[in-house]
Amino acid sequence: TEEQLIQAQKIEAAALLANGIAHDFNNLLTPILGFSGLVESKLGANHPLYPYVEHIHSSAEKAKELIKRLLSFSRKDTTEFKPLYLDDLLKDFLEFIHPILRKDIKIITDLNVGTIQIFADKNLIEQVIMNLVTNAKDAMPEGGILKISTSLIEIDETFVNTHGYGKPGRYVLLSISDTGHGMDEEVKQRIFEPFFTTKGDKGTGLGLSVVYNIVQQHNGYINVYSELQKGTTFEIYFPVFEILQENSNARGGI
Ligand code: ADP
Repeated sequence: TEEQLIQAQKIEAAALLANGIAHDFNNLLTPILGFSGLVESKLGANHPLYPYVEHIHSSAEKAKELIKRLLSFSRKDTTEFKPLYLDDLLKDFLEFIHPILRKDIKIITDLNVGTIQIFADKNLIEQVIMNLVTNAKDAMPEGGILKISTSLIEIDETFVNTHGYGKPGRYVLLSISDTGHGMDEEVKQRIFEPFFTTKGDKGTGLGLSVVYNIVQQHNGYINVYSELQKGTTFEIYFPVFEILQENSNARGGI
């Protein structure tokens, strides 16, 4: 049912977030664990400061153990990046999520990158689509049109500079738009913050922060356009998986 799907999405989102935090924590713990161990052995057991350093070291070890358990719980350690046809994934996945959409929401698809691959993790991309479609649905309580389209576009230096990272080149653009209530500038500024929601008890505020994280993991970009009472468009750009380019570069070098 819809309720179960939303519940599953919440758990998935929390697991993904926990996973991200666990990884960052792990990186911070590494020097604490390593250097406290080093200081411990340099001081020797008779040094007056030894018990303190030993305390730091054993606490860091416990933290490491906790993180390990958290990571195995969130089991999202198993991302698998592969060349993937986005149009095929969309066709399959939309069929799967069709039942969660109400009948008063009309879906229009316009898929144009059938022969182009992106380098991506299937589960993560499905989560992006799921979260954006769920939000679009929530924004159209009185029904409306959900449009999902893909196209191939060339990103130039100007685009890269306005985002402050990434590379120019060929990208697959996934655009998801709704004719819902839209959002004002203040809300728009905060949508990617974890736990920011305007839905009260019905929201987690995790959907878009997870989307943002996943897009970053794929070296992509997000743009959001929204107008009150008109609707919202999310544009996501994924770099095209360019196998030929690598080969021709290699040949060009000889
Ligand atoms: P949640 O859906 O649990 O509130 P999200 O992170 O997915 O969490 O979204 C955060 C907020 O962004 C929402 O509460 C809503 O105010 C706004 N938002 C997201 N998508 C849309 C949309 N398609 N139309 C209007 N507002 C949106």
